[in-house]
This record gives sequence, structure tokens and C-alpha cells, in this order.
Amino acid sequence: MKCPLCGITDDKVIESRQNQSATMIRRRRECVACGARFTSYEKIEEVPIMVIKRSGHREHFDREKIKHGISRALEKRPVPHRVFEEMLNSVEDEAAIVSRSSNEIRSVTIGEIVLERLFNVDKVAYVRFASVYRQFEDVDEFIQVIEKLSETGAAKSNE
Ligand SMILES: [Zn+2]
Repeated sequence: MKCPLCGITDDKVIESRQNQSATMIRRRRECVACGARFTSYEKIEEVPIMVIKRSGHREHFDREKIKHGISRALEKRPVPHRVFEEMLNSVEDEAAIVSRSSNEIRSVTIGEIVLERLFNVDKVAYVRFASVYRQFEDVDEFIQVIEKLSETGAAKSNE
């Protein structure tokens, strides 16, 4: 690293130390040319995922927001906390994969990811979430979703 005093890029590390949570390494360095001591910090580069909302506004991806939305849909439903946690993690993983190239994801896409998971976990929660997220244009659209659900339900019980 370039010495802040003499500008020579020849130094040796005297000491390396992790911070308590082990997310950062602090290195004490000494310039070989002039003996100046300086410090560098090394940490994992985290590029925040940006969520593009329907309005076009952007905001940082917020796990808590998704958690809140899912837990509201699951309110009083017989879904174990472990399943809820797994679902939340898998939504977050999927969002990270989808946004990998651009670091962006549309809020609608997140909604669809959540819906896909909820569909397999709890149908009531699925409909609750869908009614909020999809913002059904009219009652017909809502009924279509319910009918589709009962069709898949019927198909499954016929197996
Ligand atoms: Zn120097």
C-alpha cells in the first residue's frame, strides 16, 4: 500500500487483528522506506441490493420488511416458526440470485417469490399475501386466483 507520508508502495504488515465480530481485519503497516506507520482495514465488499418499487422509487432491500409481510399473512395460521424462518431465508437467497447481475430487483418480483413459497406452505396465507401484493384490479381477478387454488387442490386430492 502507498505510504501516506513518502508515497512509496513498499510496506510490511506489523500486526493483523480481527474485530470482535470477525467482519473486518485491521492491519498495522510500516513503510519500508521511511518507517511511517499506518493502518488499513479490510472488509467484505457488500453491494446493497436495490428494490425498484412499482412507483419507480428505489430503496435498499430490507429483510425486515419481507419478514413483516410474510408474518402478517401467516397470522394465526398453523405454520411452525422453523418453516417461517426457512421460507424467509429462501426468499432472501432467491432475491440475491435474481439481482446478482444488476444488484437490482423489482418489488413485484420479490412478491412473486414470496407467493411461490407461501403457495406451498399455507393456502390461506397465500391468498392474504396475494390480495395485498398483487393489488387485484377487481373482484373477478381475485376469484380467479381462488378458483385456480381450488383446482390445484382438487387435482392433488385426485392423485
Ligand atoms: Zn514512507
